[in-house]
Amino acid sequence: LSRLRDGLSKSSDKLTEGVTAIFTKRKLDDDTIDELTDLLITADLGVPAATRITTALAKDKFDKDITDEDVRSALALEVAATLAPHEKPLQIDSARKPHILLMVGVNGAGKTTTIGKLAKKFADDGKSVMLAAGDTFRAAAIEQLQVWGDRTGAPVVARKVGADAAGLAFDAVKEAQEKGVDILMIDTAGRLQNRKELMDELAKIVRVIKKLDETAPHDVILTLDATVGQNALSQAKVFTEIAGVTGLVMTKLDGTARGGVLVALADQFKLPIHFIGVGEGVEDLQSFNADAFSKALAG
Ligand code: GDP
Repeated sequence: LSRLRDGLSKSSDKLTEGVTAIFTKRKLDDDTIDELTDLLITADLGVPAATRITTALAKDKFDKDITDEDVRSALALEVAATLAPHEKPLQIDSARKPHILLMVGVNGAGKTTTIGKLAKKFADDGKSVMLAAGDTFRAAAIEQLQVWGDRTGAPVVARKVGADAAGLAFDAVKEAQEKGVDILMIDTAGRLQNRKELMDELAKIVRVIKKLDETAPHDVILTLDATVGQNALSQAKVFTEIAGVTGLVMTKLDGTARGGVLVALADQFKLPIHFIGVGEGVEDLQSFNADAFSKALAG
C-alpha cells in the first residue's frame, strides 16, 4: 500500500495542491467549480468524472464554505466508485494447459517488463510458465524477454529477428501443450505507426493459435503507460478495435502526475483492470485495488 502511495504521490500532489490553491478560504461557487473542473481535467481524469465530482460536491455545498478535505473526500469517493466495477483479478483456468495470454501494447509501454513480473507472480503461485518472444521486430525485445525467462525460470520460445511471429506463436502453443504448461504468455510487436500491418499480424497470430486451441487466446491483455496521459486513451481505442482486448495493465504509475488517466480509461472503455505497475522491479506489479488507488490518488 505504501508503495502505491509513494508511486502515486506526484499525481496526488498535483491534485491536492491544486485543490488547496482553489479552496483556501473560498466558497463553492460557479468560479471555483470551473477551476476545480479544469484541475481534474488537467490531472487526466476526463470530463465525465470531473463533472460527476463537482456535481456531487455542489449537491451539498453550493454557495457554502468548503475545505480542501471536503473536495479530497468527494474525489476519493467518485474515483473509487468509477474504478470499483473494473477491479477484476486475472482468472487463470487451471484446466487449460496452457492458459494463453496474448500481451499487446505499443513499444515502450512496459509490456515485456509486465510479462516478466507476471511470470514471477505465476511461478510464485506454483504455476509453470512459458514465454513466447513474439515481438520479432526488435532484437532488444527478444533479448529482454530471454533475460526475464532466465530470471524467473520460465522457458522462452524465441526465433531470430524478422521471423514470422504467427509461426513462432504456433510453435510456442504446441510446445506448451506438449509439456502441459499452465500459462503461456505471448509477447507481440507494438508498432502502432503501421496500424494495418499490426492488425494483420495480431489477427494472424490469433488465427494460427486457434488451430491448436479454438478457445485461445484466453485473455488479450493491453499494457498502457500512465506517463503518456491522454495518449493512453487513443492506444486503448486502437487496440480494442484491432485486438479484442479483454483486460488492462497500467504501468509506470510511480513517478507520474498522470495517474488520473486510469479513471478516464475506466469511464470510456469499461475494461477489467487487472494489475498496475509501480516500478521497474520484479515485485513492482500489484493487483489492482480501486479503493487503495483512489485513496492514494486523492492524497
Ligand atoms: P515494451 O517495449 O512495451 O516491452 O516495454 P518494456 O517492458 O521494455 O519497458 C520500457 C521501460 O519501461 C523499461 O525501462 C522498463 O523498466 C520501464 N517500466 C516498465 N514498467 C514500469 C513501471 O511500472 N514503472 C516504471 N518506473 N518503469 C517501468
